[in-house]
Amino acid sequence: MQPDASTDLSYVCPRERESPWGTFLTQVDRVRPYLGELERWVGTLTRPKRVLIVDVPIELDDGTVAHFEGYRVQHSLSRGPGKGGIRYHPDVTLEEVMALAGWMTIKNAAVNLPFGGAKGGIRVDPGKLSRKELERLTRRYTSEIGLIIGPSRDIPAPDVNTDAQVMAWIMDTYSANVGATTTGVVTGKPVMLGGSLGREKATGRGLFYIGREAAKRLGMRLEGARIVLQGFGNVGSAAAEMFVQHGARIVAVQDHTGSVHDGNGLDVKALSRAVAATGGVAGYEGGANIGAEDFWEVECDILVPAALEGQITAARARRVRTGLVLEGANGPTNPDADLVLAERGIVVVPDVIANAGGVTVSYFEWVQDFNSFFWTEAEINQRLDQILSGAFAHIWDVHQEYRVTLRTAAYIVACRRVLSARAQRGLYP
Ligand code: NAD
Repeated sequence: MQPDASTDLSYVCPRERESPWGTFLTQVDRVRPYLGELERWVGTLTRPKRVLIVDVPIELDDGTVAHFEGYRVQHSLSRGPGKGGIRYHPDVTLEEVMALAGWMTIKNAAVNLPFGGAKGGIRVDPGKLSRKELERLTRRYTSEIGLIIGPSRDIPAPDVNTDAQVMAWIMDTYSANVGATTTGVVTGKPVMLGGSLGREKATGRGLFYIGREAAKRLGMRLEGARIVLQGFGNVGSAAAEMFVQHGARIVAVQDHTGSVHDGNGLDVKALSRAVAATGGVAGYEGGANIGAEDFWEVECDILVPAALEGQITAARARRVRTGLVLEGANGPTNPDADLVLAERGIVVVPDVIANAGGVTVSYFEWVQDFNSFFWTEAEINQRLDQILSGAFAHIWDVHQEYRVTLRTAAYIVACRRVLSARAQRGLYP
């Protein structure tokens, strides 16, 4: 589709087919026919509401000054404050952050959380910084984006290479700048500082709940199911643990260091210990080390991409041997790969519902911080299951009613919610 006046963001980034923002726009285009009168408002989704680019200068331990480029994008605030994580990665670009923010808008609306969508990031290789440098980077970045974040404006959370400690530094810096301890400015904080029980593993846990619901509807038993997993970080390892607890086997794992395979099922606990010790799965002796491309051809019942976006290309989609793709990562499947998978009868449970467990417990954390009243882990897990299973059931019904993929169904549900909010609020002035 040619960009029109409302979708042309060439002043910021080209609309390349395989770029994350291009993927997001294509996904939105695919739901236009189902929007009815709301299509009038679709420009709300094809342009981010607000983009902030910041220079983040820090003094390195050797006394030199380094500059890093950081972003915070608020894609939509129509349904509530912005919400979305912060990524530290050497490949972070503005257009990637725009796409990630767009997916947060869709995700929050698909699950019916009272948030808009936002995302942030810094182009940095955090592995090359000392802990003190990382802290200085985080604090300066927080101060720079402090103009637009806040508990009722935009609430960051962890993403790739950021964790509870980074969130604690953000909370402390923001609080110092506004002169009041403001725990609700970020989620994914340490429990001691207003964090929620269950947050750390919530995305992986949610991935399991959604996988269980999808398997139920497809008549697939989890007992003995073979799972292939890309990414063994926060999301991938927590999901692996849950699937194994329910009788599934993790037959292959790939991370940025390598790929390991065992048809009888890898020992996930031993693999976690090895990754903690060596930094990756490469060289793990409890399975066979296989080639990066061979990984995609390992036969399985459920394929779980839980690393980065753009991993399932059309070429890989033709080679994967699975019945179900459960998207743990954001944007792991390219739009043309989606078409190939659909043609091959492979069901894809999209990221916007499959990995929504993290943001759902983030929502619980935000609510708990406002009330200064904290729930038990059992309550959190039970409410998470209830919300995600309910959201999935609704999306499944729309998928059957319109005979569309689950991704398009999720986008129909989400885009209608966002655009209805936009239409009801009206334009100012
Ligand atoms: P993480 O940093 O904890 O782990 C990332 C994993 O991906 C690591 O195992 C890493 O080795 C692997 N990886 C990185 N580059 C790779 C490559 N080129 N090939 C193969 N593997 C590679 O990050 P995470 O928090 O687990 O996030 C993973 C994905 O899930 C991201 O797309 C993120 O946006 C998404 N996500 C995370 C959360 C959350 O709560 N953490 C919530 C929703 C979505």
